[in-house]
Amino acid sequence: MMQLDEKLEPILAEVMRRNAGEPEFHQAVREVLESLGRVIAKRPDFADDALIERICEPERQIIFRVPWIDDQNKVRINRAFRVQFNSALGPYKGGIRFHPSVNVGIIKFLGFEQTFKNALTGMPIGGGKGGSDFDPKGKSDREIMRFCQSFMTELHRHIGEYTDVPAGDIGVGGREIGYMFGQYKRLTNRYEAGVLTGKALFYGGSRARTEATGYGNTYFVESMLKTRGTSFDGKKVVVSGSGNVAIYSLEKVQEFGGTVVAMSDSSGYIVDENGIDLKLMQEIKEIRRARISEYLRLKGEGKGVWFVKAGDGSIWDVACDVAMPSATQNELTGKDAKALVKNGVIAVGEGANMPTTPDATRIFQDAGVMFAPGKAANAGGVATSALEMQQNASRDSWSFEQTEARLASIMRNIHDTCAATAEEYGAPGDYVLGANIAGFVRVAEAMRALGVI
Ligand code: NDP
Repeated sequence: MMQLDEKLEPILAEVMRRNAGEPEFHQAVREVLESLGRVIAKRPDFADDALIERICEPERQIIFRVPWIDDQNKVRINRAFRVQFNSALGPYKGGIRFHPSVNVGIIKFLGFEQTFKNALTGMPIGGGKGGSDFDPKGKSDREIMRFCQSFMTELHRHIGEYTDVPAGDIGVGGREIGYMFGQYKRLTNRYEAGVLTGKALFYGGSRARTEATGYGNTYFVESMLKTRGTSFDGKKVVVSGSGNVAIYSLEKVQEFGGTVVAMSDSSGYIVDENGIDLKLMQEIKEIRRARISEYLRLKGEGKGVWFVKAGDGSIWDVACDVAMPSATQNELTGKDAKALVKNGVIAVGEGANMPTTPDATRIFQDAGVMFAPGKAANAGGVATSALEMQQNASRDSWSFEQTEARLASIMRNIHDTCAATAEEYGAPGDYVLGANIAGFVRVAEAMRALGVI
């Protein structure tokens, strides 16, 4: 572990004390504080007025009960959260996650990361995150609807287009956003399109929002590869996960001439030596919501396709030039990083939030592998959500090309800002440091201007 600046050590100790039992939150805070030593050496005023302590403390945390009735007429209970982390730059903005692993520490880590990510986009959005320990797997469509309605029955009093604007995340896609928006509209009697993003096109959604996170990560990695005079063209790529982020990374990598040879879900991973078939993956995941082993069943054995069950091996043992972890936090460990480096990986782009453990990040950086942290590389999703808010506010709807062009330029800007900031602070090529510092400085300047609040 890296040594922290002596002014920052007690701040981390206090965060750990008052947020006991929340290891993911500690990990996210530590990573940012590790980058801030160089900032306060240059700008000691940023450590004044407990500014860094305030940034580490959410403005508001809401925890609530979600009762719902399953198809057997049985009453079920889940716990839900909304952490409104920082609103110095705009309304809280961040996704909602439905997954059994969700707890307050995970939502806090995501809200903390989101604050800096949103600042990096240069758009007027603060940071927040929410979710529930509800498990959508195996639930009927009606059960999902009843759950979303009950969830929104409580959440609606805490959100609004000028207050807090949720979106999707793990387990929450277009279907769930639709049910939540419907319930919000019914409860408030307001057609407030800008209260949620990730809506379908026919009721106020933005073109390219579904694709934005995966496309954005691919754009970011392409910019990074360019700094070393290369590109995705002809590269072998491994993308973990097979959800929203993973599928649209696959699409854009293919468009850039790369070949995605492996993808996964929580049941295991699929290798297709000829390149994963996008249409087939969409059919399995987006339409049938099936397990990834279906890919092997539909393609048939003996054609360079195989499936490895979770626990029998790691997707990161598959040799590749570029790795794009796009499933969940801490999915790529030190052991995985060593295997990737041994097999010659040259770049890693985090599609998911904090998918790489701290020791794995260090292994990549020490080996000279280009490493794009999620808070920069996966910011395309939230940036396009902010574009959705703009379209809603002006009651307008842009073309796919126009929206994607905005996304591409935002991603290039984020890349260049991270690279320039890393250089300015004496660590050229360190995108982790560049992203943390550039995000922090924008939030910190706004917080200072607004006084001690
Ligand atoms: P989805 O629910 O669409 O897909 C998640 C994928 O990751 C699924 O394949 C899922 O497999 C797998 N996965 C989830 N949890 C685990 C786990 N504990 N172990 C193994 N595999 C797991 O989510 P998204 O694609 O939207 O999100 C993926 C990541 O990207 C998350 O970290 C999210 O925070 C981040 N992100 C998403 C954005 C967006 O716009 N959607 C924006 C920025 C970041 P299974 O189906 O088997 O659970």
